[in-house]
Amino acid sequence: MGKCYRSELVGAFGCPIDENPTGVMEEAAFREKGLDYRYLTVKVQKEDLEAAMNGVRAFQMKGINLTIPHKVEVLKYLDELSEAAEIIGAVNLVVNRDGKLWGDNTDGKGFLTALREAGEDPKGKNITILGAGGAARAISVECALAGAKTITICNVKRDQGIILCDLLNKRTPTKANYVIWDGPITIPHHTDILVNATSVGLYPHVDQRPDINYDSIKANMVVCDVIFNDPNTLFLQEAEKRGAKTVNGLGMLVNQGALNFQLWTGVEAPKEIMVQTLKHEFCLDD
Ligand code: NDP
Repeated sequence: MGKCYRSELVGAFGCPIDENPTGVMEEAAFREKGLDYRYLTVKVQKEDLEAAMNGVRAFQMKGINLTIPHKVEVLKYLDELSEAAEIIGAVNLVVNRDGKLWGDNTDGKGFLTALREAGEDPKGKNITILGAGGAARAISVECALAGAKTITICNVKRDQGIILCDLLNKRTPTKANYVIWDGPITIPHHTDILVNATSVGLYPHVDQRPDINYDSIKANMVVCDVIFNDPNTLFLQEAEKRGAKTVNGLGMLVNQGALNFQLWTGVEAPKEIMVQTLKHEFCLDD
């Protein structure tokens, strides 16, 4: 047999996408496992998604990640969806299974894995989530499917918060309620797990933190953040000061990347290399 010069292709479609570091993390993982895969970071405008998805089929790519603004729109170009992706109504991962495109949402699953790696599980827990955007949607649906007892959604835009609660109440076994966020909110005292799923604190706004009453964070709460750059957010620092256990957004990012890797290649992901690569990209080397 002759040598094979063709690499398997995966990648990401989005716009903006220039500063997305996922490709560096996935390519480091491919190298570590000796897999001849290439991850292409591709700028795809909103109106070009159909052509780009036809490209996934034409190039027989193994799969693709979707980011802004394609996570919802891509559904119409897929053949099958996971249960979570169907409920969430958004896809960030596509796997090409012999020509059939299957969509999943690995953001929430990445969060769950990071939580479980920290020794915590949402089953039977009361969860409070700040935000009702894409990340909050994915996290809340996965926590609900994993057996969360209650989910409280706090969001500034009322409509977004109510739509998410209705979705959780109708499509999952959890009991969800909306709390209006029009000033510093007090975290409900029965909260076991508190999640910042807003974009507050993201680089370069590292001096910002969600507008909550920080003294309502108690030492028995587990406090999580989705922000991964810089992962040591002010929000988590405040929680730590009050004795709470914290889980940062880097774990979520790495675990969703690891899940993508596994679903594309069928090989277990080398997570430690992925963590180190991201830390290097974000200049977080110890
Ligand atoms: P969206 O734009 O969909 O949602 C943003 C959310 O943040 C909305 O609920 C919005 O509230 C809220 N928000 C924004 N500014 C404020 C503010 N000043 N005060 C209170 N709430 C605010 O974004 P995503 O959900 O896709 O992403 C959110 C964050 O999660 C991003 O920083 C992203 O980088 C991060 N993320 C991390 C991942 C990881 O793997 N660690 C994976 C995915 C995302 P409103 O509706 O009222 O405007």
